[in-house]
Amino acid sequence: MIVRSIVTDAPQGGVQIESRDMDYSSFPVILKPILTGICGTDRGIVNGALPFAYNPHGENRLILGHESLSMVISAEPNQYNIKAGDIVVPMVRRPGKCLNCLIGRSDNCSDGQKHEAGVTGLHGFMRDEFGDFPEYLVRVPGNRKDDIAVLTEPVKNVEKVFEVLDIISRRSIFTDSSGAYDGKRAVIIGTGSEGFLFALKSMDYGFSTGITNRHPLDSTKAKLVEDTGMGFYDYARAGIREENGIDLLIDTSGDPGTVLRFLGRMNNNGIVVLFGTNGKAQPAQVDGEILGSIVEKNLSIVGSVDGARIHYEGALQDIYQWKAHYGKAIETMITARLRPDDTGIFLKKPADEIKTVISWE
Ligand SMILES: [Zn+2]
Repeated sequence: MIVRSIVTDAPQGGVQIESRDMDYSSFPVILKPILTGICGTDRGIVNGALPFAYNPHGENRLILGHESLSMVISAEPNQYNIKAGDIVVPMVRRPGKCLNCLIGRSDNCSDGQKHEAGVTGLHGFMRDEFGDFPEYLVRVPGNRKDDIAVLTEPVKNVEKVFEVLDIISRRSIFTDSSGAYDGKRAVIIGTGSEGFLFALKSMDYGFSTGITNRHPLDSTKAKLVEDTGMGFYDYARAGIREENGIDLLIDTSGDPGTVLRFLGRMNNNGIVVLFGTNGKAQPAQVDGEILGSIVEKNLSIVGSVDGARIHYEGALQDIYQWKAHYGKAIETMITARLRPDDTGIFLKKPADEIKTVISWE
């Protein structure tokens, strides 16, 4: 069938709308996207800044899109009970053959043979229709179609990071006497959509939470900060006192200089999670004093990427819990809703963007 799709040529980049003849006969489930989200990864691929992105084997185009809320059009009978009319979020990573992949944890793939839809060797979801397998579809509870459910994919990254935190924090008494994180302080570097999502989860844990960037916030983001009760400071202007005493640091910037700056402000037993990547960031130097402080303070520094089915399911719980708790404030995270042919959005990020989505309906 002929399908309209948004394509690039990875890793060189570029973006265009293309009508492609796709054969979905090997897929038991046929789906239609409702919304797809755009993130820094998509723009990185289009700008040719992500050398790890590549086209499917033997093809000269990659269909973009890894954040999707989709509807099942048709499905062969399956043990996952996925059926026509279901609202689902398709998983991004698809397993290779390593043991972690075989147990459903391709997020922890040990040999790099996994693929990621819309990023590495597998077509993404930015097309009028796509075929898939039921084991990679996560059903939205109650088949709800809320726009914010398109945030499930970025929130699953958050769920995975907090799983990592749960594991690492067991090495010492990290909580207060009641087992809560109240009184502990979390700082999230970066005020993009992922930064806000990390901050919301951090507040759920009871951390006193602030997000930080080196610029003042625009009015949409400032209002979200105010409505949710998280803190914000501009680290280019803030005094050193505001930066001190961090128990949990999560980086979404991928900028080594920024991470090192905050590393010096960590409390004993602090945990640093690196999530952002930026292969073109300026280098920064690690000296003996920094290494010494990591040792003396018992710091844990850990990277975290992607998430498994359990994290997608947790993400949907988070999203609906936040909607119940914060109401409309969460919906303000969707800052623009565009048509598929508005491909200029991949080249220029709107100044007030938190999450831009493309509507396929
Ligand atoms: Zn693997």
